Amino acid sequence: MNIVLLGAPGAGKGTQAAFIQNKYGLTHIATGDIFRANIKGGTPIGKLAKSYIDAGKLVPDEVTCEIVKDRLVNGEVGKGFMLDGFPRNVFQAEELDKFAKVDLCVNIDVDKALLMDRICGRRMCSCGATYHVSTLNGATTCAKCGQPLYQRADDNPETVGARLDTYEAQTAPVANYYRAQGKLFTVDGGSGTPEQVFAAIESELDKYLK
Ligand code: ADP
Ligand code: ZN
Repeated sequence: MNIVLLGAPGAGKGTQAAFIQNKYGLTHIATGDIFRANIKGGTPIGKLAKSYIDAGKLVPDEVTCEIVKDRLVNGEVGKGFMLDGFPRNVFQAEELDKFAKVDLCVNIDVDKALLMDRICGRRMCSCGATYHVSTLNGATTCAKCGQPLYQRADDNPETVGARLDTYEAQTAPVANYYRAQGKLFTVDGGSGTPEQVFAAIESELDKYLK
């Protein structure tokens, strides 16, 4: 089973990806993580990507599509892949259809007002755990592994505004693309706990696997 996770920044894609990976063993491929690793490593791709990411814009399609294509065509995906952060516009969705088969698009829907607060209050750990300042009670280290928490460089109010605008204009139409193919499943990601959101996704994936 190959799936695409769709949702605005802060919708909870990373959190649900961890749950899905844990239960279904799908290979998690997150383009944002790939770009951040390249920035950290000082690679040419990282240098190019940084200016776009800092501005809340999309990294050019040629670069992004090539990275994903290489990963899917030349790398192992085992039981299937779960794309997180790709496709981020209709062009990328069309390209993806040329080199891989998507079975289902899980669209996590969250109100815009909530997203701003979630992203600006988000704190991360390099182990993959994420937290929100409102529940940290001032803690600065990860409850799971003890490492120091940090804030993503693009999780600031200015960049978040641009990221949400980019999402509205370019990424939201991707839902229609998959709806037209009969592959769209939309889940409310704004009112329940992460576990409740996962329960809804789980029942859809289980239906698909039957
Ligand atoms: P979020 O969903 O929280 O905005 P990501 O980690 O998915 O964060 O992406 C961070 C940034 O990386 C994006 O704002 C964008 O600049 C870049 N990026 C990630 N995926 C893509 C993509 N498929 N196409 C173009 N740019 C991308
Ligand atoms: Zn941790």
